[in-house]
Amino acid sequence: MIWNEKMETMAAQDLKNIQSDRLKSIVKYVYDNCPAYTKKIDNHGIKPADINTIDDIKKLPFTIKEDLRDSYPFGLFSQPIKQLKEIHVSSGTTGNPTVVGYTKDDLKLWSEVMARAIACAGGVPGDMIQIAYGYGLFTGGLGFHYGALEMGLTIIPCSSGQTKRQLKIMTDLKPRILACTPSYSLYMAEEAREMGLNPRASSWEIGIFGAEPWSEAMRKEIEATWDMEATDVFGMSEIIGPGVAQECLQKNGMHIFSDVFYPEVIDLQTGKEARPGESGELVITTLTKQGIPLLRYKTRDIVSITYEKCACGRTSPRISKIKGRTDDMIIVRGINVFPSQIEHVLLSIEGTQPHYQLVVDRKTGELDELEVMVEVDEKIFSDEVKKLRALEEKIRDEIESVLGVMVKVRLVEPKTIPRSEGKAKRVVDKRTL
Ligand code: ADP
Ligand code: ZN
Repeated sequence: MIWNEKMETMAAQDLKNIQSDRLKSIVKYVYDNCPAYTKKIDNHGIKPADINTIDDIKKLPFTIKEDLRDSYPFGLFSQPIKQLKEIHVSSGTTGNPTVVGYTKDDLKLWSEVMARAIACAGGVPGDMIQIAYGYGLFTGGLGFHYGALEMGLTIIPCSSGQTKRQLKIMTDLKPRILACTPSYSLYMAEEAREMGLNPRASSWEIGIFGAEPWSEAMRKEIEATWDMEATDVFGMSEIIGPGVAQECLQKNGMHIFSDVFYPEVIDLQTGKEARPGESGELVITTLTKQGIPLLRYKTRDIVSITYEKCACGRTSPRISKIKGRTDDMIIVRGINVFPSQIEHVLLSIEGTQPHYQLVVDRKTGELDELEVMVEVDEKIFSDEVKKLRALEEKIRDEIESVLGVMVKVRLVEPKTIPRSEGKAKRVVDKRTL
C-alpha cells in the first residue's frame, strides 16, 4: 500500500510547486528565527526574498556537520528549547556531539515519514513488527516506533541486543516485520542456528534494514538466510532519523520523501549538481521541519539519483544504495577505496562469510598497507593449507583488479571478527598521519 497517496504519487509539476512554496517559507523562517542562519544567509550575500522557486535553492549556502558542532548544543535551533518535545544526542566520537530536537509537529512529521517507509517496504496496518534497532539516544528505535504507532501496527519494542531472547520472542509471537541493522540480522542468524532454529522457517517476511551501508550481495545473503524480502531504509539524525528514504519492493533505489526532504546530488570534483545516475554527495534541505531545520545539509553520503517513475506507482525520486561516505572513504596510496566495493567482491566469491574488516596501516617510512580480513566457511578453514592459499590469492586478485590497489588478504575462522548489535565497524585505520 502507499501510505500517503496524495504526496507520494503527485505529478512532477505539482510536487515542484509544493517544494517551491515550502522552500520559500522555510528560508524566511530560519532567517527570522535562528541567528546563526541569519548571519550565514547575510554573509552569503542573499536575502530570503531572493528565494522564489525550488530552483533558487542553488543560491543558498551549504550547511555542514561542523556548523552543528560549532553551535553546540542549541545554536542552530529555530525554536526555543521549551518547544522541543524530544532531544537526541550523537555519540560524538570525533568531537562535540551533535544535538537534534523535535517539536510536536516534527514528531508528527517523523511518524508520517516512517509510516510511509514501513508501507513502502510492504507493511500494512495490523502487522506485527519487531523493532531491534537500539532505543534511546540513537534515533533508529524510536523512529520506527513512532511510524509503527502511526500505521497501526502491533509493536514489539525489543531494542538491540539480548539476541537469544529476540529469537525466542520471534519464534513464539511470530512478528511479520523485522527492523534492525543488516549486520545484526546476520548475527541473529548465527545465534539462531546455535539455538537449533532454522532461520528460513522464521515468521519474518519483511526486513527493514539500514543505519549502515550494505551491498546487493549482502541483500541476497540476508534474503536467502531468512527467506524474507530485505529492504533498505536510509536516514540520519540531523535530518530526522530513519525515514528520509525507503526502498519499495521493486528494490531499485530508495524513494526519498522529497515533499519534505529536498535532495540534491553534488559532484565531488566540480561542486556542481551531478547528472541523474552519476555519483555525488547527497545534500538535503528539510522543507517543513520546525525545531532544527537545515538548509542544503551536506550528508557526506555518496549516492546517485533518478527521477524516473517507479513501477510501484510512487513518483518521488529514488536514491541509489549508499555507495560510501566522503569521510568513510579510505585513501590507500592515493586511491579512493569504499568498504562497499570490497564487500561486493568478497560476497561474490564462494566460501567467504559476510563478516569482514579492513585494516589500514602505515609503518614508518613505508607505504600504506590495506589488509582485508574476512571469515571463511568452517569447512574451508579446516581444508589443506594449499586450498586456503588459493582462495586468498583469488580474493586478492579480484580486489586488485576492481580497485587497482594492492591488498593483503587474511582468511580467518568463523566468529573471529567482532559482531555488532548496531552498526558494524568495517574499517580500522591504524595510520597516524
Ligand atoms: P541514524 O541514527 O539514523 O542511523 P546517524 O546520524 O547515526 O543516523 O547516522 C547516519 C548515517 O548512517 C548516514 O549519514 C549514513 O552514512 C548511514 N546510513 C544510514 N542509513 C543507511 C543506509 N540505509 N545505507 C547506508 N548507510 C546508511
Ligand atoms: Zn517504488
